Amino acid sequence: MSVEGLIDISSDTSTRPTKGMYDAMVRAKVGDEQKRADPTVNALCERVAEILGKEAAVFLPSGVMCNLIGILLQCDRGDVVITDKMAHVLTMEGGSPAAIGGVMMHSLPGDRGIFSGVDVEAAISTSPKKNVARTGLISIEQTSNRGGGSIWPLETIREISQVAVKYGVPMHMDGARLMNASVASGVLPRDYAAEFNTTWIDLSKGLGCPVGAVFAGPGDLIEEAWRWKHRLGGAMRQAGVLAAAGLYALDNHIDRLAEDHDNARKLAAGLDNIPGVTSKWGIPDSNMVFLDVKDSKLSASQWAEELLKQGVSIGIESDNELRAVTHLDVNSEGIDIVLNTMSAICSGA
Ligand SMILES: *Cc1c(COP(=O)(O)O)cnc(C)c1O
Repeated sequence: MSVEGLIDISSDTSTRPTKGMYDAMVRAKVGDEQKRADPTVNALCERVAEILGKEAAVFLPSGVMCNLIGILLQCDRGDVVITDKMAHVLTMEGGSPAAIGGVMMHSLPGDRGIFSGVDVEAAISTSPKKNVARTGLISIEQTSNRGGGSIWPLETIREISQVAVKYGVPMHMDGARLMNASVASGVLPRDYAAEFNTTWIDLSKGLGCPVGAVFAGPGDLIEEAWRWKHRLGGAMRQAGVLAAAGLYALDNHIDRLAEDHDNARKLAAGLDNIPGVTSKWGIPDSNMVFLDVKDSKLSASQWAEELLKQGVSIGIESDNELRAVTHLDVNSEGIDIVLNTMSAICSGA
């Protein structure tokens, strides 16, 4: 249940554990996670490795740590990571790839966060010269957050992985919303993941858990990931209470992501009736709607302020843009309320 009365579409991180999830957390069998003796964490890791078709997986506190460890495992200091200019790892992780990994980022001007095999081939360093920085990793984000929840087509990913194989560069997938992509496209998570050396899923986004992410890859890399987990302070103790939430979410909260996508489409379509407000990316692929408000009477922050007074929390992306993300604590009636509230603000403004 959300905070009383508030409709919070600012992020899919704003969910509260459901009753069923809390019950599963309370019943969890626990042990010392960093001694690999927490049975619930071990079960979660096995399950995620299976879903992603990888040899092994490790439980981490956050997606940010998953992206960082993906870089630390596969890049040397001074290497270049190729990613989209809007990628979370580049724009929203405190510069951790540089601060901790010592890598440089080469950002590509993708279309809604999505670039092509041709783009990668042009960006990759092929020179054996020691004065040329080496390409260490190609990182893509499924779905692209700031691309409006856009879904990478499997063919595009395969084109890129062919380039990666040709030049011997590893591939990493930020799968914060991989399950959204899979539910919306019908492509299995393991089929996306097969094109990548390392990947991860977030439990605390649309899956509705309070904390956690699971990083997966080949067994030897996951062993090395354990070293970074300890070094970065990501090794935990009785983390089974969190893993139990993850297992519950994998059983109960994947198929229902389709509802979130329906609600996001309903919100985007409903903006047609709000003067001066449009959906930046049209009808969304998944659970995100970016609202362009520049032709309305209010700025993004004024919109957010007025909406909050009426019990709706929405994200501010920039001066002229709001971001709405649907999730399991917002139903179809909630979207009606959001749209009606926006109409009312327009008539009053
Ligand atoms: C939220 C997010 C992350 C980081 O995940 P946390 O679990 O919040 O650390 C990484 N990538 C994308 C695309 C995200 O949306």
